[in-house]
Amino acid sequence: MDQPVVSRMGPRPSSRRGLPRWSALAAALVLAACGPGATGSPPEGTGTPGTATEGPTATTAAWVPDGPIDMIVPFTEGGPTDTVTRLIAGPMGEVLGQEIVVQNVTGAGGTVGAGQAAEADGDGYTILMHHIGMATAPALYANLGYDPLVDFKTIGLVTEVPMTIIGRPDFEPSTLAELVDHVKANGAAVTYAHAGVGAASHLCGLLFQDAVEAKVTEVPYEGTADALEDLLGSQVDFLCDQTTNTTQHILAGTVKAYGITTAERNDALPDVPTTAEGGLPDVSVTVWHGLYVPADTPDDVVAALTAALQVALTDQNVIDELADLGAKPVAEDAATPEGHTAKLQAETELWADVIEAAGITPQ
Ligand code: ASP
Repeated sequence: MDQPVVSRMGPRPSSRRGLPRWSALAAALVLAACGPGATGSPPEGTGTPGTATEGPTATTAAWVPDGPIDMIVPFTEGGPTDTVTRLIAGPMGEVLGQEIVVQNVTGAGGTVGAGQAAEADGDGYTILMHHIGMATAPALYANLGYDPLVDFKTIGLVTEVPMTIIGRPDFEPSTLAELVDHVKANGAAVTYAHAGVGAASHLCGLLFQDAVEAKVTEVPYEGTADALEDLLGSQVDFLCDQTTNTTQHILAGTVKAYGITTAERNDALPDVPTTAEGGLPDVSVTVWHGLYVPADTPDDVVAALTAALQVALTDQNVIDELADLGAKPVAEDAATPEGHTAKLQAETELWADVIEAAGITPQ
């Protein structure tokens, strides 16, 4: 397991004095999220609740954390999920007045980290960042050990990120059509890197193999940061990964870019054709990320975390950095427990069908 890496935020006292600049907005968002009449208790030792207003209908109190918060990333440091997490951990930590510590807990396509988060105390001090893999794991793992729809509460969706199919710098095919021909001709002699069964890169590979009706040799990693490193070193042939990991390498010409998995081209990569343009319209996937807490987490804690997420997603630096990497924050109504749960439910059903149709049985 990688060493935990501390985000940019330093520890800060939990008293109201000296609260960060986002706190007033966060407090307003928490009030809105909790609704009139909602109640909440301050954490031990923090004195008065972080937010309370006088009046007959306003009895809301916001949860205020009094120590650092762990944010579990179920893939390796430096990969796409890790990148998105570190981008929002700073501004979310500012809102909450606490350090958010990123922990990379890797393995088995993200299910090791998710399993650890499911078993954590539901006190707001352990949050899971996960992606589309949260919706695919139930159809791929016979003994998952947790149910994404039962063992977690959703905080909100975070981003939407396209994927790109890329090849090692010296890989023979130069276009998507050539890649398809190459894979059809060479089958299992071609190596495809991914981040473990159920990872986004694994799913994209499934869609690709299904579309071209050929099987390649899959090489699993614990995250696509490592997979990309091996691709750059020509140890594997090709990979499909989020633009948050691949954009800089495509722009620098250090990898071969075959296609982007969205209906439209992306402003960050205007020269990369869509998979549909390249003749593979069914290789279509957008990766979404969301934040989760254990199912027994109190609602006022969830509301405070949602409020902090919403502020982070309007942070201009977050928006700009995501845009440079071909990604964007979700709309405000998706960065909510309701929007997130609806997405998780719909995608769980969708991917169960896709996986079954591909003839894959749970391992
Ligand atoms: N991009 C990876 C995936 O294939 C995960 C990661 O390393 O963030 O799901």
